[in-house]
Formats: sequence, structure tokens, C-alpha cells
Amino acid sequence: MSDCIFCQIVSGQLSSTIIYEDELVLGFEDMNAQAPFHFLFIPKKHITTLNDISDLDQSIVGQLIIAASKVAKQKGFAEDGYRTIFNCNEHGGQTVFHIHLHLLGGRRLSWPPG
Ligand code: 5GP
Ligand code: ZN
Repeated sequence: MSDCIFCQIVSGQLSSTIIYEDELVLGFEDMNAQAPFHFLFIPKKHITTLNDISDLDQSIVGQLIIAASKVAKQKGFAEDGYRTIFNCNEHGGQTVFHIHLHLLGGRRLSWPPG
């Protein structure tokens, strides 16, 4: 998916501040942070939306959450708490069509979301 900006981040064509990497997943700083800590975790494989995941993606989707949990601990905000979000399509507010798990922490977040 050469026209996908997150695939370009995976390939290194587009620069980002990478904070996590394993065989399946890349984690990097969101360029428009909405909290003191705001990271995105993406599969290295292109998946357009959560509507496109299948049973075969179980390890990828699981690893996104495991990666976010590890980074929250490493960065020191896990005990205070944090939020993880997948936005899907228009009503969910998805703007980049390569699935990504947001990890937000470092401040008290309001609920319910807008
Ligand atoms: P969405 O609205 O699709 O759930 O979230 C997309 C997120 O990607 C936004 O928070 C936005 O700031 C972030 N983003 C968009 N383009 C780039 C980019 O080129 N680099 C980085 N680091 N973040 C990006
Ligand atoms: Zn992609």
C-alpha cells in the first residue's frame, strides 16, 4: 500500500519517532498529541479498518494491545491509568485507513468521548 502513510512509516519512507518495535507491530509518537503521552501502535501488515480483521489476525491484534500495555509501563504512566482506542470509519473518527491503536496517558481523560 504505497499510498498509505502508515505503510510509509513502516518502510521508513516517512519519518516518525519510533518508541516500540517487534516482529508484527510498530509503535510511534502521534504527530498531533492529545495528551502528554500519545502513541500509535500499528500492524506492520496493512489492514484498512477494524472491519477488515479476521480470525487469522488474532496474533497481530493481540500484539497491538500487549505492546501498548508494555509501553505504558515503560513510560511510567500505567499505574495512574491511560486510554486505548481504535477508531473505525466515519462515525468512529478514523482519518488514517491503516488500523492503529491509540495509547493516551499522562493526564486525566474525560468520559464519555464527544
Ligand atoms: P485516527 O483519527 O485515524 O484514529 O488517528 C490518526 C492519528 O494519526 C491522528 O491522531 C494523527 O495525529 C496521526 N497522524 C496522522 N498522520 C501522521 C503522521 O504522518 N505521523 C504521525 N506520527 N502521526 C500521524
Ligand atoms: Zn497501510
